Amino acid sequence: GAKDEGGNRYEYYSAEVNQAATERMEIEQRLRRALENDELYLEYQPLIDLNSGKVCTVEALLRWNNPTLGQIPPSRFIPLAEATGLILPIGDWVIREALTQLSQWEQQGLNDFKLSVNISPRQFSNPTLSRTIAEQLQSHEISGDRLELEVTENLLMRNQQETKKTLNQLRELGISLALDDFGTGYSSLSYLKSFPFDTLKIDRCFIKDLLEHPQDQALVNATLTLADGLGLNTVGEGVETAEQRDYLLQHGLKVAQGYLYSRPLSPEQLENFLRQTTSG
Ligand code: C2E
Ligand code: MG
Ligand code: MG
Ligand code: MG
Repeated sequence: GAKDEGGNRYEYYSAEVNQAATERMEIEQRLRRALENDELYLEYQPLIDLNSGKVCTVEALLRWNNPTLGQIPPSRFIPLAEATGLILPIGDWVIREALTQLSQWEQQGLNDFKLSVNISPRQFSNPTLSRTIAEQLQSHEISGDRLELEVTENLLMRNQQETKKTLNQLRELGISLALDDFGTGYSSLSYLKSFPFDTLKIDRCFIKDLLEHPQDQALVNATLTLADGLGLNTVGEGVETAEQRDYLLQHGLKVAQGYLYSRPLSPEQLENFLRQTTSG
């Protein structure tokens, strides 16, 4: 009867929840050792200035390859790293690794793009964030204006005074700031007025079906007008087709990121990509 079915459903559900929890714990335990076991690395995705056709920015994207679990996507382990605080040592590692790579590129004469690094909200509650970044810039002899940091809207909700202070400190180092995944978080337009952003990154979810969905077009057009009025640079995430690019270019988008141009690459692959796009 109905009662039995309900019971079965409940058991099925709880077994599933249990399995998910066990899996989460296993991932967490392995993530704790990922740094010391050298399982983390970065890939780099080029962002293309639509006017010049050149690479203007390269976004560092974290990767985790575990011998047992295989390749685990950031969408699975970053939230876990955030929840457990592991994002603090991992985030520091990302900053060091990305800036080491950037200084190597500088030595090769590859110096006409910015490097962009994602920063989690939890890293912002660490009062030493801007000092760590300043020290890393200094020890690699890298000028702050070569670095961009990407943060999400959710950061801005909490601790507004503290966050604004940190963002301003970073700005004083010459670092630029991008608001990532724009339109997907708990955003308020007043944030754009009170926080010192340089760039809005329009989330892939608005771009994926852009040509088919008039609603996405309305949202993207409004965002581009808004950004233009505020003097902000704009990036479209997840541009996969020439049609999307043409639409976005016609409506004033400045920079595109997506598989149409390139997937995230190893450092060597990125170097080849840069050579092709500057000599071609
Ligand atoms: P994000 O910062 O919005 O990064 C862009 C994501 O879109 C990347 O996913 C990238 O691989 C993907 N992408 C770019 N172009 C396309 C496209 O044309 N099609 C499709 N389908 N996807 C595209 P990824 O590398 O899986 O990273 C996911 C998220 O994980 C990032 O989203 C970011 O929020 C987070 N993340 C990655 N690396 C780090 C990190 O070092 N620190 C922190 N805190 N978060 C990171
Ligand atoms: Mg990002
Ligand atoms: Mg993004
Ligand atoms: Mg995104």
